[in-house]
Order: sequence, then C-alpha cells, then structure tokens
Amino acid sequence: LIHIRGLEKSFKGVPVLRGIDLSVRKGEVAFIIGPSGGGKSTLLRCMNFLETPNAGTVSFAGQRLSQGSKDSFQLAPDVELRKARARMPMVFQHFNLFNHMTVLGNIIEGPVVVKGQGKADAIANARRLLAQFGLAEHESKYPAQLSGGQKQRVAIVRALALQPEAILFDEPTSALDPQLVGDVLEAMRELAGSGLTLIIVSHEMSFARVLADSVHFVSGGVIAESGSAEQVFERPQTTALRQFMDSIQ
Ligand code: ATP
Ligand code: MG
Repeated sequence: LIHIRGLEKSFKGVPVLRGIDLSVRKGEVAFIIGPSGGGKSTLLRCMNFLETPNAGTVSFAGQRLSQGSKDSFQLAPDVELRKARARMPMVFQHFNLFNHMTVLGNIIEGPVVVKGQGKADAIANARRLLAQFGLAEHESKYPAQLSGGQKQRVAIVRALALQPEAILFDEPTSALDPQLVGDVLEAMRELAGSGLTLIIVSHEMSFARVLADSVHFVSGGVIAESGSAEQVFERPQTTALRQFMDSIQ
C-alpha cells in the first residue's frame, strides 16, 4: 500500500533522513522505533506531506504522490494532497484537536470539508464511532473538558471517520498519564484487528510485541534493521539496536 524509496530530508543542511526505504502492505501493522531525535516523526511527517522531503519518492496505493531530486522536489497538487491525507491521516502525540470545536465538530470536519460527505451522514457516522469507542456522552464537549486519554481516542475516531486506508500514529500514548495509556492502546488494538494499515511510532514495546507485523529500527537516518517483532526484539543484529533495546529496558 505504501512504498517509500530513497527518502531524504535535511533541516538547514543537517541531514535527518538519509535514504529511507520502507514498504508497508495493506492491513499491515508496522512499528517504527529508534532513539530520540533519530527522525521518526520526520519520516511520518514526510509520508503525510507535513514536511517536504529533499529527495526520494512516496507512493500510496500505486499513486506516486511525490517525487524529488536533490535540486527540486514537487508535491502533487494541493487538492490531491488533502485527499491523500484523508486516506492516510495522522494521530499526534499531543492530539492536535481543534480546540474551538466540539468533539462532534472535530470528527465531522474532515469528512464534510475534505471528502464532501453530507453533514447528516457525517454526524451519524461520527456518533456510531463515538459509541464504539466509549465516547458517546462526550460529543458536545470541547477538547479542554476531556482527559488526555479521551482526547486521544477522539483523535483516533476523527482519523477513522475519514474512512482511511491507513493511519499514522506518532507516539500516541507518550503524553498520557500511565493509567490512561491502556484505553488508548485498547482502541488501537481494535483498529489493528480491523484490516486497516497502521504505521505506529511508539516506545510501547510490549504492545509492539503483540500487535506488530513488522518492526523497523530508524537509526542514523536510515532503517538500520527490520523484521518481525520477535526478530527485532529477541535477535537484534546491529550494535545500535542492541544499545537502543538496553537503553529503554
Ligand atoms: P523523538 O523520539 O524525540 O520524537 P524523532 O525520532 O521523532 O525523536 P524527529 O522529531 O524526527 O525525531 O527529529 C529528528 C531531527 O530533526 C532532530 O534533530 C530535530 O531537532 C530535527 N528537526 C525536526 N523537525 C525540525 C524542524 N522543523 N526544523 C529543524 N530541525 C528539525
Ligand atoms: Mg518524534
């Protein structure tokens, strides 16, 4: 479903991504791990075109969305970009809900504005998803009136309401109090069983062990090691991965 080839990104001449190759099949749950500052968020942001890469290609569902060389990089036209984002939305560490909109407003915004869904339809769909994720009684609240775990589940519902093919998660539980993490992981576990393609940056290794079809270790601006959770966690091949595993245990 997603093919990334030779993706490079520098900030002010400092390379962060130095040639990322990554393929994710439809329905795959792919975890991305690696040290802080290693470029995990930058990789997700390049996939979602929140950052413009310097080189490389990102293809989604057989459509090449971007294409670059060291000198020039072009994105697909803006309309295509917003539609592509709706097919592969992102859930952020700090939720990034629209604070001036209610929960329901947050959820129907994308379907109505980007996908042109009718408002009544969008509301019915949002209510169904809110009920599924135990959030039905919160639909009229504003984000400031919710706990972190509730906000993150609303963010997940907002992504799901777009009926996407894939969802990108950037450390969705790392800003949460420990007792709120479980609810969000449970919501993600439900998604993983639903056939959606998930790309998850997370330090929740025990969660990755259970859910991951593949684990990719980003280090030095490349994917230094990839494999099943068992391969990557139990039999790390590189010193960098062994050191990383030791550092987080
Ligand atoms: P963490 O685990 O801490 O979230 P990460 O692997 O997600 O780290 P990134 O956020 O992708 O790392 O950052 C990689 C590097 O790129 C860092 O050195 C960071 O300072 C730099 N960087 C990221 N975004 C920008 C930006 N907009 N401008 C300048 N430098 C940036
Ligand atoms: Mg990050």
